[in-house]
Amino acid sequence: MTICILGGGIGGLSTAIALKQAGFEVDVYERHSKPSEIGAGIVCWPNASFVLEQLGVLDKIAKVAGSINYMNRFSSSGESIGSLNITELNLLMKYPSYSIIRKDLMNILTERSLELNVNIHYQHNVESLSDNNGKACVQFSHGKHIKPDIIIGADGRMNSLARKYVNIDNKQIYQGFINWIGVFESKFDVFTELSVSDYWGEGDRFGIVPISKSKAYWAGGTVSEHISDASPVRYKSELTSLFSRWPSIITKMINETPLSRINKIYVHDHDPINNWSKNNVILLGDAAHSPLPTSGQGACQALEDAWHLANCLRNNNGAELSLVFKQFSELRMAKTSGIILGGRQLATSIFNQNVEYCQQRNLASKQTDYKMVVAGMAKSWSSGLPICS
Ligand SMILES: Cc1cc2nc3c(=O)[nH]c(=O)nc-3n(C[C@H](O)[C@H](O)[C@H](O)COP(=O)(O)OP(=O)(O)OC[C@H]3O[C@@H](n4cnc5c(N)ncnc54)[C@H](O)[C@@H]3O)c2cc1C
Repeated sequence: MTICILGGGIGGLSTAIALKQAGFEVDVYERHSKPSEIGAGIVCWPNASFVLEQLGVLDKIAKVAGSINYMNRFSSSGESIGSLNITELNLLMKYPSYSIIRKDLMNILTERSLELNVNIHYQHNVESLSDNNGKACVQFSHGKHIKPDIIIGADGRMNSLARKYVNIDNKQIYQGFINWIGVFESKFDVFTELSVSDYWGEGDRFGIVPISKSKAYWAGGTVSEHISDASPVRYKSELTSLFSRWPSIITKMINETPLSRINKIYVHDHDPINNWSKNNVILLGDAAHSPLPTSGQGACQALEDAWHLANCLRNNNGAELSLVFKQFSELRMAKTSGIILGGRQLATSIFNQNVEYCQQRNLASKQTDYKMVVAGMAKSWSSGLPICS
């Protein structure tokens, strides 16, 4: 059976590893010339750590990642408005949470893929998928085309051609806010402990996720009705004008992060769709479900997909492909749709510009029983996985 994966991002590579470990031969086709270095960092929550362990890379992740212990929420003036105990979440879910620079995660997944002899074909930009006697074939921009038995669409959220083939419409939805993301590194210790800090303003937000005492990734966000050009030379002045009156650690992050390590993203997602497959094509990761960053679960869910799809294909007992794909979609759809909607709900609250609303929201956060929140997160993020909560 020939299996090809379109897209060598987090979802594509983790699926390649899981399939190879399950005994399949697999080819990955990626448009770029090397592993993607785009993006700042990711929190691998315990559900992701379970999958990373199954893929044989959790030890390597632990060596370069941060063991975060709390997520502390603050108002834009620095007043504490709640604290979520990540150590408690880890205990309930029986796996650690790690903060990691995205480039490091990609390098570890790439190394593991190569160790298992996965064929990664860089500089293969998919141009289209077309029908050929009830089977899709893939056309690349440089003229080559392939007709594999199975095509896994892991080509991301912004213009997935696999999603277009399956769902016809692949138009992403702009959710009305920007994220500037950056990676900060210092020669000196800056963080006394590895806690996530999440500052909420009135239509603005700044989050800092330490990887070590001297390294962190961060994201500054604000409401923006329209999409305009990203102009790197203006990033620092844009950020400074928004966050100069916020706690000094934020100004430090902005001032001391080189411009080359800051990116500006107009944040998009997709509505959940209720069909992820057509003929021999199955979608996964952001191509199937792309939650907002406020969900904190995009990459974690792409990893879960990898594990589930490999299991469904390995245990199929000769069932028709359509049934295997149906089984996979049924296992994954409710959880990922809930995460998309949860991400939107939090974004609507965080990026609300109404002063009174924000005061009430912060008060509600202060009065929240975060122990209960942790229990709820453990329950929903464990669902579908053999980990306890
Ligand atoms: C600002 C921001 C912050 C985020 N923070 C977090 C976080 O903290 N935690 C978390 O879990 N998730 C986070 N996410 C979400 C996470 O990045 C994604 O959910 C995750 O990367 C999905 O993996 P994927 O493999 O499906 O897609 P991607 O990682 O986007 O990979 C898709 C791959 O497909 C390739 N590709 C696309 N089109 C083609 C084509 N035509 N031909 C060939 N190759 C193609 C791309 O080059 C890319 O390598 C964040 C997202 C954003 C935007």
